[in-house]
Amino acid sequence: MSHDCLFCKIARHEIPARIVHEDDEFLAFHDINPAAPVHLLLIPKHHVASLADTAPQDGAWLARMLQLVPALAADNGCNPLPEGGFRLVANTGAEGGQEIDHLHFHILGGSRPWSKRAAPAA
Ligand code: AMP
Ligand code: ZN
Repeated sequence: MSHDCLFCKIARHEIPARIVHEDDEFLAFHDINPAAPVHLLLIPKHHVASLADTAPQDGAWLARMLQLVPALAADNGCNPLPEGGFRLVANTGAEGGQEIDHLHFHILGGSRPWSKRAAPAA
């Protein structure tokens, strides 16, 4: 873990967050500046700077992280498919719009209208 990293601090419960899911590996919480009616962030509890810092041996936990997403979306206000759904975003690097250097998935959803942009507001 990185001691200076905001999301590591949230993972250690040193900074409050509106947590909706926690297990041994992952934490999900509401984005503090939501870009949609539902806007969650899903992080691994261990420090990983971005998707670009993952390697083949990370595939198993990345798959587990990905597989949490549909239930998190459904359980936190995203509407059922096919009319509903959710958007999954992983901003990666400066030009990808990544501001916090700890890997996170944005899970966005809820009734439209909300931002049509591929990335949440910076
Ligand atoms: P990104 O631009 O992809 O790095 O996204 C970082 C996200 O973290 C933004 O959507 C911010 O609103 C969100 N954020 C920043 N600080 C906090 C915090 N303390 N709790 C929850 N979300 C946060
Ligand atoms: Zn971190």
